[in-house]
Amino acid sequence: MNIKIHRGTHQIGGCVTEYEYEGWRLFVDYGEELPGGPKSGDLHIEGLTHGDISKSALLITHYHGDHIGSITKLPKELPIYIGKVGREIQLVLSDHLKSVDGIHQEMLERLLHANTFEAGKGFSFGPFSIMPITVDHSAFDAYAFKIEAGGVSAFHTGDFRTHGFRSKKLPDVFQKYVGEVDYVVCEGTNVARPDATNQTEWELQQQFEEQFKANKGNVVYLSSTNIDRLFSLYHAALRAGRVFLVDAYQKQIMDAVTQRDPLWGKSKLYRYGNYEPKVLMYDKGEFLVTDEFKAFLDKLGYVLIARANPRFDSLVERIPGEKQKYLSMWNGYVKEGTETYNKNLVDSLGKDYKPMHTSGHSDMNSMREVFLLLHPKAIIPIHTDKPEGFAQLFSEEWPIVVLNDGDGISPISSRIADSIYPMVSCGRTKKCLGYFRREEDALSILSHTFFYLDKQAKYEVWDEEDFSAKKLASGLLSELQKKSE
Ligand SMILES: [Zn+2]
Ligand SMILES: [Zn+2]
Repeated sequence: MNIKIHRGTHQIGGCVTEYEYEGWRLFVDYGEELPGGPKSGDLHIEGLTHGDISKSALLITHYHGDHIGSITKLPKELPIYIGKVGREIQLVLSDHLKSVDGIHQEMLERLLHANTFEAGKGFSFGPFSIMPITVDHSAFDAYAFKIEAGGVSAFHTGDFRTHGFRSKKLPDVFQKYVGEVDYVVCEGTNVARPDATNQTEWELQQQFEEQFKANKGNVVYLSSTNIDRLFSLYHAALRAGRVFLVDAYQKQIMDAVTQRDPLWGKSKLYRYGNYEPKVLMYDKGEFLVTDEFKAFLDKLGYVLIARANPRFDSLVERIPGEKQKYLSMWNGYVKEGTETYNKNLVDSLGKDYKPMHTSGHSDMNSMREVFLLLHPKAIIPIHTDKPEGFAQLFSEEWPIVVLNDGDGISPISSRIADSIYPMVSCGRTKKCLGYFRREEDALSILSHTFFYLDKQAKYEVWDEEDFSAKKLASGLLSELQKKSE
């Protein structure tokens, strides 16, 4: 099975990965590049954007724009696979946005014809077996995939974290549905953001609850599809005795989760309590604020889930009384002078807001625990702007393969008789990077491998024939890397 990273080896947004076996191609994600990061523009990929796509398919890990956003550019005949509830949420989102952005009409049409899968229910495409594993992320119904073909297995993490509400079950899930794999293609968003995860979702919820108890008027700016945070705030508001206010679109998204998700729909987090979220009324394109409504909010206090737009701004202005505002999103949107800076959001927030957020991505210690469970021969970081930092963190435990966009590896099954295998070593620690058909394939993966970054790691390439093995090449890993530059 060939694993190729078309984009994402050195950037966070717009990752595209290809798994190929005997002419069949399985791609994972086709999203937009993020503002503020490097740009490679439109991709030209044989078997995906053009050429013969009769043996190709695309898997979507989750509905964030950097994973799904560019699928409208792909040929219409290409089969697309996405999680059932994630598709539902994206349909609500695209339907909501289609009048302001034409791309969402196209997105709707694409997704209406998409195939859906569910957690823990494996399926196949050509020679590939695919096991979707539900992971905790700031997008709901997000997946990792175990992908196998030709006796080689890979685990593609997608975006994930281990400090959310649903993370505790991860080790059990891995044991039951994944086991050990040959390679992990892993997201590394937080390599360079060590402080992004200093709180769990649960701790954050406690703090919100305290704030809601202390303040009568609360306005939270939040991404409309950050489902776990949304339900977390809903329950915190309920416990604080405040009215939980959302617009009709936001309520529709919440309903998509409570009513339809087979796996999590039964969980307490995604169930409505004694009072359902209260839906804001419209009047001639504005939210309606009547005297009764004002009196009602004045009596109980409220938590309003808002987005940065004129309609919400006007609503907030017309509700009397003091308000505490919160930013429950990544702080990159409010950093002046950056490409991600969102002036509307900054204006809506005003000066005295509280930033209260925790990352949707894994911190590095939890990632280590995941690798310990999966036991890979090597790890390929993607979705990161610091792949070398990733190597620095993990290269003493696992060989880290840092590729460039367009590079790949081509491992074969260990059961094939005549195989070439590369080894890396440092002191007494020795690791085999897998099995390959040709010496140059073995040397190619070695030339991208980091192992004991700060020490002199060595490599060897062995040729296995019948019952004997012959050394084909050996030397210092650093010298091999220099040669291939
Ligand atoms: Zn994401
Ligand atoms: Zn992402």
